[in-house]
Amino acid sequence: MDVSRDAAGFSAITDAARRSGRAMGLVPTMGALHQGHDALISRARDRGGFVAVSIFVNPMQFSDADDLAAYPRDEAADLARCERLGVDAVWSPSVEQVYPPGVDLPAPDPGSIGSTFEGASRPGHFPGVLMVVHRLLSVTGPTSAYLGQKDAQQLFLVRRMVAREQLAAEIVACPTVREADGLAVASRNRNLTPAEREQAPSLFLGLSEAAAAARGGEPVAAVLIATIAREVGAAGLARLDYAAIVDEATFEPLTTVDRPARAIVAARFSEVRLIDNLLLPGPAA
Ligand code: AMP
Repeated sequence: MDVSRDAAGFSAITDAARRSGRAMGLVPTMGALHQGHDALISRARDRGGFVAVSIFVNPMQFSDADDLAAYPRDEAADLARCERLGVDAVWSPSVEQVYPPGVDLPAPDPGSIGSTFEGASRPGHFPGVLMVVHRLLSVTGPTSAYLGQKDAQQLFLVRRMVAREQLAAEIVACPTVREADGLAVASRNRNLTPAEREQAPSLFLGLSEAAAAARGGEPVAAVLIATIAREVGAAGLARLDYAAIVDEATFEPLTTVDRPARAIVAARFSEVRLIDNLLLPGPAA
């Protein structure tokens, strides 16, 4: 497994693999790798071809310096994990390699959806996400990039950027990997206290109840949102940030579920902010 720090070195490795005619899969990560990342890497590997992983805690997408400082990092464990999973190349760059001083990199505009939900709670988050994903795609030149459905708004905005800018990479969405109790696996979960960890599945519980109500024919988004809020509220240590039902095609909030829709939720447990989402099933026939 090749490990590069600089952009030129990593580009040279991926260029050589591409010249040999191999498909190239890129899995962008912020490290602290877990089963969610494993699933993305496995999906890329199962498709055959060269598998590249980037490990970069992107300061541009953090609006809070404390949050950035608290973000878990363990490069040695990440590299061992990548090796075990059969990754071909890892790019683990410094901030200067991703954002070379004095260079004006493309700064794709997330548009109005970029200021809602995660974007409202974290100003500057999505401009930072799109900038780094654009940069990762241009350094790597992948055939496909593998992203998790767990970050549904991010996935939506990256897909739209790729379509609008006519970038060559196919974006492959991978299902959310969960703990046995339903909690979406996330690097931040390790910062939960034991009591918070016990209550953290309340997000998935609320989403699942909303999905069951939608399957039962409930079309009123406010009712589904109240279901989610009730479950999160029942977890005494959680503070609901938002719960919403959005149009799967546009990420705009819906008041009536009359088209493919996704329930989304964010809540805070003291210092740890968790997000989750679930595609709502149509009414059972
Ligand atoms: P992160 O390292 O948190 O920036 O995540 C890197 C990629 O892994 C993103 O595309 C995430 O959506 C994805 N990811 C994170 N957690 C999960 C999970 N539990 N299941 C599936 N994908 C995930």
